[in-house]
Amino acid sequence: MVVALVCGGGNAAHVLAGMGASRPDTEVRVLTLYADEAERWEKALEGTTLCVTSKPDKKSYTANPTKVSKDPAKVVPGSDIIMITVPAFAHAQYFSAIKPHMKEGVVIVGLPGRAGFDFAAHGILGEKASCCTLISFESLPWACRLTEYGLSASILGTKQVLQGAMQLGTPNPPQDPVAMMQRLLGERPVLKTSGHLLSMTLMAVNSYIHPSIMYGRWHDYDGLPLKDAPLFYQGVDEMAANMLTKTSDEGVSVAKEIMKLRPAVDLTTVTPIIEWYQRCYSGEIGDPTNLMTSLHTNKAYDGLKHPVTENEDESVVPNFKYRYLTEDLPFGLAVVRGVAEIMKISTPNIDKVLLWGQEKIGKEYLVQGKLNGKDVCETRAPQAYGLTTLDAVLGF
Ligand code: NAD
Repeated sequence: MVVALVCGGGNAAHVLAGMGASRPDTEVRVLTLYADEAERWEKALEGTTLCVTSKPDKKSYTANPTKVSKDPAKVVPGSDIIMITVPAFAHAQYFSAIKPHMKEGVVIVGLPGRAGFDFAAHGILGEKASCCTLISFESLPWACRLTEYGLSASILGTKQVLQGAMQLGTPNPPQDPVAMMQRLLGERPVLKTSGHLLSMTLMAVNSYIHPSIMYGRWHDYDGLPLKDAPLFYQGVDEMAANMLTKTSDEGVSVAKEIMKLRPAVDLTTVTPIIEWYQRCYSGEIGDPTNLMTSLHTNKAYDGLKHPVTENEDESVVPNFKYRYLTEDLPFGLAVVRGVAEIMKISTPNIDKVLLWGQEKIGKEYLVQGKLNGKDVCETRAPQAYGLTTLDAVLGF
């Protein structure tokens, strides 16, 4: 019997709860701390059953979690695996909530982990982090949508493979953690974990993609309204594509330098962004000649536009207070910049994008070349948790 705890109450939490609960010998519980979600979900459970439908393979999974609660004391004790499946800005409250109640040997999964999942785990769980096995995945297993709260959700697409990294705790979990997770998800995606947990922080691609494209499009914006929102990925020009290549390359150089100093640390999954596109979107990209053509011809990006605010006359202006900057800087690029600073590696392109973006969202992270601005404490950079040496960054 596996006791699995799903942390969150959104799209992914519904899919994970319904799918997981339908597996034999599995108890699924849900912890959702946000607003009245626990109450709403509990109410929905009365007399009905959560149904998750997978559109691509026409399967459905019908099963309820045994408990849904806002109170960690009611659902955390006895959990073998805890899967945090909310946006990165909400991870910290889940780490704090589970900390007093989790057992030794528990597996904690960031689904997805995003940049700094490792630092938040160590920073918030403190000494208890070493008693947990930590796994961070690069994304969700599916594209999914909740259709009726507590009652139904749809899987729109399932990945073939999902890359992650793991740090085993002491004691080791009684069951193979990846196998446990795979059992909950079924055959697809195939879960692959390799390398050091830090690889998921340095390879959290939204950290590079969204801020670099925002910078490319808007760094010399004249402030005048536009007729329509420009295409986000398919409207990228050469300058923005080059900026994305350069910010990602700076992350790769941080990984290479760490591997040079600590040969036992495997960060080989940290690759240039073009290789990530080739790995994850090979079937969708029409022209893989270079990064710009790959972005322009990626079918998964068809029609996706820049975030904008509409004026009364239907003209639009860019919306800088959107997650592409408000999340992907503090839980993305600033985290990479923080690791680079500890490694004493200069990152001129990351700095350029970060300085521009932080001004747009009214924050101070990077000041006079140092990540010590007044808002660093709101990021997941290692500095925010007092992790200031390479060993601390690696969790040693
Ligand atoms: P979601 O938007 O459905 O998650 C919303 C949930 O997060 C809420 O229901 C709530 O439980 C929690 N939350 C929101 N605001 C909060 C706050 N202020 N405080 C505390 N909790 C709060 O997210 P999702 O679609 O389930 O995705 C989870 C993660 O996976 C996100 O990071 C998302 O970007 C990523 N992702 C989603 C998809 C998808 O298809 N849904 C695909 C790839 C990646």
